[in-house]
Amino acid sequence: MSIDSTNSPEMPCPVFKSGSARLFLDGKWCDSDLGHTLGVINPATETIITRMAYGGRPETVRALEAAQKAMKSWSKTTVMERSNLLRKTAEILRQRALEIATTLTLEQGKPLAESRGEVLQSADTLDWFAEEGKRAYGRVIPSWLSDKRHITLRHPVGVVAAISPWNFPLSLQIRKLAPALAAGCTVISKPASQTPLCLVQFYECLEEAGLPNGVANLVAGPASEVAAEFLSNPICRKISFTGSTAVGKELMRGASDQIKRLSLELGGHAPFIIGPDADPEMAAQIAVTGKFRNNGQVCIAPSRFYVSKDLRKRFTEAAIEATRSLKVGAGLEPGVQIGPMFEASGLRHAQDLVDEAKSRGARVLVGGRRDVRFDRGLFFEPAVVDDLAPNCRILTEEPFAPILPILEYSQIDEVIEQANNTPYGLAAYAFTNDLSTAWKLAEGLESGIIGINDPVPTSPQCPFGGMKESGLGRELGQEGLEAYYETKYVSFRIRGS
Ligand code: NAP
Repeated sequence: MSIDSTNSPEMPCPVFKSGSARLFLDGKWCDSDLGHTLGVINPATETIITRMAYGGRPETVRALEAAQKAMKSWSKTTVMERSNLLRKTAEILRQRALEIATTLTLEQGKPLAESRGEVLQSADTLDWFAEEGKRAYGRVIPSWLSDKRHITLRHPVGVVAAISPWNFPLSLQIRKLAPALAAGCTVISKPASQTPLCLVQFYECLEEAGLPNGVANLVAGPASEVAAEFLSNPICRKISFTGSTAVGKELMRGASDQIKRLSLELGGHAPFIIGPDADPEMAAQIAVTGKFRNNGQVCIAPSRFYVSKDLRKRFTEAAIEATRSLKVGAGLEPGVQIGPMFEASGLRHAQDLVDEAKSRGARVLVGGRRDVRFDRGLFFEPAVVDDLAPNCRILTEEPFAPILPILEYSQIDEVIEQANNTPYGLAAYAFTNDLSTAWKLAEGLESGIIGINDPVPTSPQCPFGGMKESGLGRELGQEGLEAYYETKYVSFRIRGS
């Protein structure tokens, strides 16, 4: 971290109830043992917003021990008690939505309206699991023998480590924490080092709602230390991770020693297929909105735009026009649709992808370079590119950047094959009103999430997750609760029937 100036005077500074941004261990706000802090940077100004307490292994051990102790009583609470805590937290989160959304925009960069959407969706997720937790039924299984009876019971998996990334720092943590608490597990939240602040404010909501000591704990610190403790300490029974495929693979290897339970939400490279019958102008509008949300730094962002050959010209013209009209700026400014990139390495990566595509013959139709209208901040002009070489990096590596690459196809079978030709399998999108084409795509695409005429398929009650190297397991929906239970089978031998 080379930047050391403080937040510029015109930017608001988040306020924390315990006076500063700190860890939350066993029901108490704490500094790190060694007094270490990390400056959290506003990507719109490249200055430090505030400093966050930054712990390591000892604080992680304390959090795990507190969670283990709390597990004894929390796992025995009734589903109604757990539901009430989640509901109350959702209520407080909604009351503080604007304040927490502002913090999220300051540390992550996305426009305020998107941050507000993330906060409100997080509250909906808490409410969904507050209800779904009440429906964690077991089964009665018909016996083959007259003197036996069989049932299954749900058993909370144990102490859970929840590791989340920077692109949706609030909602991706709450997708783990809410079902884990609903199932009777206790939790240690590990945010991305650069976006802990909105989670500190979320933990204040949990505390105000009556969270018992040790049931949820917040540890910020270097992943190399915190995750190493999660992996080696037998108190931690499950790791739920959202982040890159590379780290997901590392965790999978590390978790094998103790057969720790794992949920993995990893990278993606979503195809967006515009069917031959689609309205190309409307599809372009949706494509631009979907692609540039949070600057393309979204795991389910559409990343390859396959347009039916006859529609290519109209789609491309409309996409260029819609991209040109986007308002770029600091996320707190009214009307801004595209904030800064999250970090300098992401901005360089976006530039590298454009340059590599160009060097192999691609045309950059709009944008594609650092936005020189801003003298500070990590602003990049959203880009539309076409005429891409088949294996250029933007078509094979997860881009995580505001670049919309256009490709054309002639046959649906051919485009399904191209769309599936990647190790990823998180999301896919298709635009068509032809029922047969829609079914063919839904059945043929190898993705865990498929939006047919729906560019925003995420919803608290529906399963979210990837196939192939995009992950393991599902979050949200019934499956998202299931992930925090073990199934216990109990067989009874009874007398005399
Ligand atoms: P990342 O580098 O994998 O980091 C994600 C989280 O893991 C952060 O909290 C990070 O902590 C921590 N971490 C880093 N190295 C670790 C290690 N060796 N062991 C354990 N934890 C470690 O990913 P990112 O760059 O922040 O996020 C972008 C990636 O997340 C993209 O690939 C994106 O597709 C994926 N993602 C997936 C979903 C989904 O639902 N499938 C949703 C959003 C994002 P530090 O910050 O302290 O390093």
